[in-house]
Amino acid sequence: MTQKPPAKPIVTRFAPSPTGYLHVGNARTALFSYLYAKANGGVCKLRVEDTDKARSTDDAIDKIFEGLGWLMGADVWPRDETVFQSKNVTRHAAVAQEMLDSGNAYKCFATPEELDKMRNAARTEGRSPRYDGRWRDRAPGPEQGNAPFVVRLKAEQDGVTVINDHVQGRVEFRNDVLDDLVLLRSDGTPTYMLAVVVDDHDMGVTHVIRGDDHLINAGRQNQIYKALGWDAPEYAHLPLIHGPDGAKLSKRHGAVAVADFRDMGILSDAMFNYLVRLGWSSGDEEIISRKDAARSFDLDRVNKAAARFDYAKLESVNRHYLKAADDKMLLAEMTYLVGKLGLDPGSFGDGANADAGLKSLRAHEQRFLSLVPVLKERSPTVLEMIKDAAFAFVDRPIPIEPKALKLLNDDNRSLLGRLHEALGDALSNDAAWTTEAIEAQIRSFAEAEDLGFGKVAQPLRASVAGRMQSPGLFDVLYCLGRAESLARLADQAKSD
Ligand code: GLU
Repeated sequence: MTQKPPAKPIVTRFAPSPTGYLHVGNARTALFSYLYAKANGGVCKLRVEDTDKARSTDDAIDKIFEGLGWLMGADVWPRDETVFQSKNVTRHAAVAQEMLDSGNAYKCFATPEELDKMRNAARTEGRSPRYDGRWRDRAPGPEQGNAPFVVRLKAEQDGVTVINDHVQGRVEFRNDVLDDLVLLRSDGTPTYMLAVVVDDHDMGVTHVIRGDDHLINAGRQNQIYKALGWDAPEYAHLPLIHGPDGAKLSKRHGAVAVADFRDMGILSDAMFNYLVRLGWSSGDEEIISRKDAARSFDLDRVNKAAARFDYAKLESVNRHYLKAADDKMLLAEMTYLVGKLGLDPGSFGDGANADAGLKSLRAHEQRFLSLVPVLKERSPTVLEMIKDAAFAFVDRPIPIEPKALKLLNDDNRSLLGRLHEALGDALSNDAAWTTEAIEAQIRSFAEAEDLGFGKVAQPLRASVAGRMQSPGLFDVLYCLGRAESLARLADQAKSD
């Protein structure tokens, strides 16, 4: 009996070019590549395509790691296991030389001016401006001497190149429209086309998952694979992500860089979940954990049509993860945002002062921690949690916003004085200061004063939160604690 050879382990890769930030479209490509490998017991490798030295600054590369680290977890793609394409340029050039030696590539001495002329003439005559193969079958003569040249692929000219794409289906390219592309530039550096093929081959990549703007490149790259006698990988070209209006997602629509979503207060689990479901249908369930996604992801259910980015849906997924999130982790995320964005919620938006914000957050860490369970139930983002928590950032006497100040007229200040006394007497120590007891006392106080609850709650809120809006009043009082609450009340109260 002949034994079936073991199936080749699946290797995918994510190959971002450092462009200054990680676009959410690229992040989704990273995620799908990673999930496909995981779901099939394979591996997904990271390759930073940093051959364009002008753009590939350290800062741009850091931003990729920062974005991926946040979204995927820092351990998924450690920097020291990452392939940096620029390290492989000698190998790329050697492969180009092999192709020259085997006659699958040739030197082209056409100057840029000559090529411009050729293209303009083709355009005027209504022909395609592709390279016309003028050096394809021409050996350099003595007049070429040390003249600069590029190395071009001697591409097949007849027939078709077929890509059986996991998402796009069967795609055919007529070989006579794919011209003799450049493999090596005149300065000896590889082009993207050559570098990607050599690196994918050397890294053992079996499946290339990327944006469908690269579909035609798959046709061109397959010609290079063929010329080299290498097996081409399988392909899955993902449709673009559109904005809510159907146009290509851009900054005009809102955040597009992964880091911007973090700054908006989206949690990485929520972003991960939302991106997995963006263009991959798996039942009606909106919520899917990282684990389940890594178990069940497949390419068959990737939609062929462009996905629409829905910011409101992302927020609703975020709400789900916020509610379930660990309080200490949320406090850490709040601290990160206050520092990163230079927020000083205590100033009611009058001027940002990161130091002040961070200082008060640290000074009142316990207060915040006890607030987190309340905030995460009502806020759609971490940023909203911070805004909601503004009252806890401030020190006495707290600033009171103008509208709230209007409520603090003489009558109400007297009322607060009586309430201060009633609360202080009835709840005479910290142990008595519970949300339930606070509520009961305020309600019975309102009854005794013959006032509706709102008539007491409004000035009370103004005095302890400084604003018209805040989380639930009893929660606010509880989180501030007995001493701080009573002191804030006393600050605004007038004794009769
Ligand atoms: N570096 C290319 C890009 O960022 C991707 C190359 C590829 O996936 O083949 O668009």
